[in-house]
Amino acid sequence: MTELQSGLVISHLGKGVAVEVDGNIILCQTRRKLETVAAGDQVKMTIVAKGQGRIEEVLPRNSLLERPSKGSKTRPVAANIDQIFVVFANEPYCDFLLIDQYLAICENRNINALLIYNKSDLAIIENIEQELVCYQNLGYPLFRVSAKNNLGIDELQQELSNKISIFSGQSGVGKSSLTNALIPDKELKTNTVSAITKHGRHTTTAATLYHLPKGGDLIDSPGVAIFGLAGLSENQLAHGYREFQPFIEHCKFNNCRHLQDKGCAVREAVEKGTISLSRYQRFLKLREKMPTD
Ligand code: GDP
Ligand code: ZN
Repeated sequence: MTELQSGLVISHLGKGVAVEVDGNIILCQTRRKLETVAAGDQVKMTIVAKGQGRIEEVLPRNSLLERPSKGSKTRPVAANIDQIFVVFANEPYCDFLLIDQYLAICENRNINALLIYNKSDLAIIENIEQELVCYQNLGYPLFRVSAKNNLGIDELQQELSNKISIFSGQSGVGKSSLTNALIPDKELKTNTVSAITKHGRHTTTAATLYHLPKGGDLIDSPGVAIFGLAGLSENQLAHGYREFQPFIEHCKFNNCRHLQDKGCAVREAVEKGTISLSRYQRFLKLREKMPTD
């Protein structure tokens, strides 16, 4: 009987899973019956040959991020994430619908959400600033940074320490620039994983966990910037707008959809200005975009 060892999943590759055990990276296969593992998973494994192991058990997760897969299925992208940083900028213009979507997912998945306004070296846009006040009033922390000018990176690093984080946001907002600023030797580390797992360049498209030199872990997932509303129900979407929560229970009907429903406390709060109209309008838009099946 070989002994069970504890490991941390660094990356799930085509040919196997890169698992960190005692500071070394070992290429592992999973037991056939085991569920799919993801970067960030804590596992129990056995060594089967030199540098090779087998995952025997996946420990319970604190959180799981999934992306849509074939049909209505989902695939795990990252496990045990403590916080998602939603990155945006004024160029490309800030997509508030996408921000709300991430925030709704976090609210339902036991993951903290924080906002990063990158490219703060560029001119301020008034419309964006107004929306930001709204998010801050809802309790979402906001970091203004510039990856280009290395501004605000230290403050960001402090918030990253002792936690597992991931950056999300539309393409072009500067996620890779920020990741490179935080992990200067990222390429070297990626190459190390590739060499050990003999996986070649594909590694760069799989979600990968990096230990940050100044503390904390960052899961870089270049291929999956957008998680979609994978797995959220209509009720969960409404719950995902955290300011709706205290009103939802006061809606007249407990199957209220918060549209034109009679006695909807959410809509009343919007009419009174307690809930931001733009947030409510985006809720309606996201609701329409939800997959129906
Ligand atoms: P990603 O698609 O989110 O990973 O974005 P990238 O990191 O590839 O950055 C997209 C573009 O924005 C690149 O041309 C970067 O040079 C530029 N960029 C990134 N950060 C900043 C910044 O802080 N200020 C400015 N002005 N440009 C930036
Ligand atoms: Zn309602």
